[in-house]
Amino acid sequence: MPYGYQGKILHVHLTEMRFETEEPSEAFYRKYMGGSAMGAYYLLKHTPADADALSPENRLTLAAGVVTDAPISGQSRLAAVAKSPQTGGIGDSQSGGFFPAELKFAGYDAIILHGKAETPVYLWIKDGVPELRPAAHLWGKDTGEVEDLLKAELDDPKVQILQTGIAGENGVHYAALISMANRANGRTGMGSVMASKNLKAVAVRGKQRPKLADKKGLNEHARWGSQNFEDSDVFGMGLYGTAEVVAAQQESGGLPTRNWSSGDFEGWEAIDGKTMASTILKERDTCYACTVRCKRVVETEKVDPRFGGPEYETVATFGSYCGVDDLEAVSYANQLCSMYGMDTISCGATIAWAMDAFERGLISAEDTDGLDLRFGNAEAMVAMVEKIARREGFGDLLAKGSANAAQIIGRGTEDLVVATKKQEAPAHMPQVKRSLGLIYAVNAFGADHQSSEHDPSYEWYPERMAEIGLNDPQPSDNMNEEKVRFALITQRLYSALDSIGMCQFVFGPSWHLYGPNQLAEAMQLITGWDVTVDELLEVGERRLNLMRLFNAKAGFTRDDDKLPKKFYEALKGGESDGIKLTVEELERAKDMYYEMSGWDAESGNPGAAKLAALGI
Ligand code: SF4
Repeated sequence: MPYGYQGKILHVHLTEMRFETEEPSEAFYRKYMGGSAMGAYYLLKHTPADADALSPENRLTLAAGVVTDAPISGQSRLAAVAKSPQTGGIGDSQSGGFFPAELKFAGYDAIILHGKAETPVYLWIKDGVPELRPAAHLWGKDTGEVEDLLKAELDDPKVQILQTGIAGENGVHYAALISMANRANGRTGMGSVMASKNLKAVAVRGKQRPKLADKKGLNEHARWGSQNFEDSDVFGMGLYGTAEVVAAQQESGGLPTRNWSSGDFEGWEAIDGKTMASTILKERDTCYACTVRCKRVVETEKVDPRFGGPEYETVATFGSYCGVDDLEAVSYANQLCSMYGMDTISCGATIAWAMDAFERGLISAEDTDGLDLRFGNAEAMVAMVEKIARREGFGDLLAKGSANAAQIIGRGTEDLVVATKKQEAPAHMPQVKRSLGLIYAVNAFGADHQSSEHDPSYEWYPERMAEIGLNDPQPSDNMNEEKVRFALITQRLYSALDSIGMCQFVFGPSWHLYGPNQLAEAMQLITGWDVTVDELLEVGERRLNLMRLFNAKAGFTRDDDKLPKKFYEALKGGESDGIKLTVEELERAKDMYYEMSGWDAESGNPGAAKLAALGI
């Protein structure tokens, strides 16, 4: 068995209620490393590209990585990969917390879920022994209730539980998987996929620690991180959470406001991370063994701390997107998403789209069950979150996502959708960070802010950028050839991080605690392999090609790599007033990106030669 891994992958055949254990070769592990690349490999192997995402034919992979549970910061990550009910292509979502490390302790590197159980069940794995147990008593319960019931039933408060919520049971297109009742594999609807298999939860517990190649060296590596943390640029995120960036986004005119009509929100200070820290923050929280402690726990009369606290994306989507400057309402919407299991980005952004349509008179109170769905109406926003999870009234339509809802309603509401491949855009504006426009367009599972480095870093962190061969810093507002190269190379590094299973706040190419060379060093200390940065970039490239290949089989082409109309309209107010993208700029960037990737310019997909070169 290779160092760092358990060497075992559990296949759960839910239709037949049986298990199969795969023990892949060391070469397999080195090729994919884990997490997302492994998930893409199993999706291609087992799921027909034309399968209905909510049918038993869809396979859901839950995969940790090689680094998961090693004694260093940032390593407890889990990738969930399946065909997405939201995009119709590959779905991919990452989370942290304590579940990923405990999955490894329980004896497995990954779980592949096949088929569909006849009645609701949950999967319980203790010290390498899997078992399927009845879960009818958990169906219809919120995530906090399920945590309590399962921990009591299994008689162990330290059991880690990953579950689908009420939103998943109801088939909300952007339902999430939730662990600890407050950590989410939020994006691309993986919660609905798990629920469609009649699988309510996966509970894990174990004592099996994988062996490390050089434990002493790894301890030194971790010590360096602790000693340098306070002087690093990630220190502020530890103090103020990811919502620390609200101020910087506002300053640059990059805080999406009122459904992306502006990048300037007059109420920004009320939802900022520093405001959260000085008002409703109860405590900071962390993922297994992480020194950064960026997670938030907030409490008010209305908000229950067990459901955590809002991230930057959440304060933006429920806050500035909706014109809401009420931090308690935003935190309560976040709580509902944790309780019911929904992606806060797609949920908040879909409500913002509906508010935009309401303000313009394209929909009315007759459509919205009488709710006055105007920007700034925090009460209506919170009411809609509840309706979406339960699929009541107008919420039933919004549960399909903004792109599908607009298609059904028509009346010009299609022009207000801010999504790519039907996935709502996260809160980083390509108008001011130009390369994100390209990545939002070409990314296999739709708009994503954690799939590449953001533009300002190229100028701000030249030494670390040089470690991945980027030596020609460019300003944020251009989209020239070198910027396309920056987007592609950093996309490969982020893709590798999602496969190794490493948090992108701790390791990365710029403001992160550790740089790319230190990432390769950590991998060497864990696995004993002579891993280089170039090898890691190739693992990332392989994952990007696997994802793209699945989408190509599902019928996706270059034409699906497009941006929403709103990005081509001038922003109003603040630092980004008048700024917009152009179609010509995007198409030019796509040409360069496909060529650099070795993909066909016409279809935008990888050809046989590229796939062969990557061993696919
Ligand atoms: S940086 Fe934050 S999200 Fe990442 S592992 Fe640490 S606590 Fe978790």
